[in-house]
Amino acid sequence: MRPHARDRQVFSFEFFPPRTPEAVGKLEVARDRLAALRPDYFSVTFGAGGSTRERTFETVVEIRDKTGIPAAPHVSCIGYPTQALRDVLATYRSAGIDRIVALRGDLPSGTSSYGELRYANELVEFIRRETGDHFFIEVAAYPEFHPQAPGAEADLFNFKRKVDAGADSAITQYFYNVDAYSRFVEASRRLGIDIPIVPGVMPIINCTQLLRFSDACGAEIPRWILKRLRDFGDDRVAIRDFGVDVTTELCRQLLERGAPGLHFYAMNQAEASIAIWRNLGIGAADAQSRVAVSAA
Ligand SMILES: Cc1cc2nc3c(=O)[nH]c(=O)nc-3n(C[C@H](O)[C@H](O)[C@H](O)COP(=O)(O)OP(=O)(O)OC[C@H]3O[C@@H](n4cnc5c(N)ncnc54)[C@H](O)[C@@H]3O)c2cc1C
Repeated sequence: MRPHARDRQVFSFEFFPPRTPEAVGKLEVARDRLAALRPDYFSVTFGAGGSTRERTFETVVEIRDKTGIPAAPHVSCIGYPTQALRDVLATYRSAGIDRIVALRGDLPSGTSSYGELRYANELVEFIRRETGDHFFIEVAAYPEFHPQAPGAEADLFNFKRKVDAGADSAITQYFYNVDAYSRFVEASRRLGIDIPIVPGVMPIINCTQLLRFSDACGAEIPRWILKRLRDFGDDRVAIRDFGVDVTTELCRQLLERGAPGLHFYAMNQAEASIAIWRNLGIGAADAQSRVAVSAA
């Protein structure tokens, strides 16, 4: 049975496809260390850093085959003809993949052709039409709202479109404000959205990288976190320790408030995610009982 966040908490790690032999080695090390924690699944991004569908496919299959843990590709639709998407779905299906993170994606700068499917709800609809219930479909959700959304209500409504189209579960953009998440979940429930909304967690490893990502995706870094990070300068150990502390506390509060699991943006690194995981006490015994519940 596929792990379903409705039944129990679901824990996952996200990777991106490596582009150089050195990066391949780094991912293998992170993959094996994180696999030892027995997460419910790994996911692999598409498009980030210029990765191709082929590289996402190869990475997903390799992770699944080497670890025995399910792996889910991210599939985005913007700028792609539906025939290409149909082929991608068929390829994943015949490789035995049954979980997908379905996204709109972003057009590379300078591109103006949107393709046939312009929004993620259309992609979810397409996947359901083409493949029925084969795939467990995850979609993106934005507790601090999507940067292009005209407003909070409109963005919530657009989130509902994806659920109405057949999404099974959602993973949020990362955030450092627990109230933003709680209020987003409450507002979603009021709209009748009843799928699990799993918080996406970004371990803080590198200040410059965090600022760059947050600028692009609209995630807010609280001022007090930013000031502390800037004070640490190039002291990587201090940044990592502080980051682990802050993120552990964030996760603890989220789980206490009933979050249906956690999705770690592991960035092809294991150390910070493992430290947070251990601080939270999501240990081997817990992993075994989670497996037992899923098999029931
Ligand atoms: C968990 C997660 C994983 C991600 N993985 C990747 C990845 O692998 N590769 C990658 O390139 N990007 C990835 N992203 C980023 C994502 O592609 C971008 O945030 C993108 O801008 C929006 O994708 P979406 O699926 O949320 O789009 P949508 O849900 O389509 O929303 C995009 C915008 O359009 C609006 N909107 C939605 N539907 C409609 C509609 N029917 N009519 C009018 N407006 C609408 C929304 O309010 C929002 O402002 C990820 C994000 C998350 C949270």
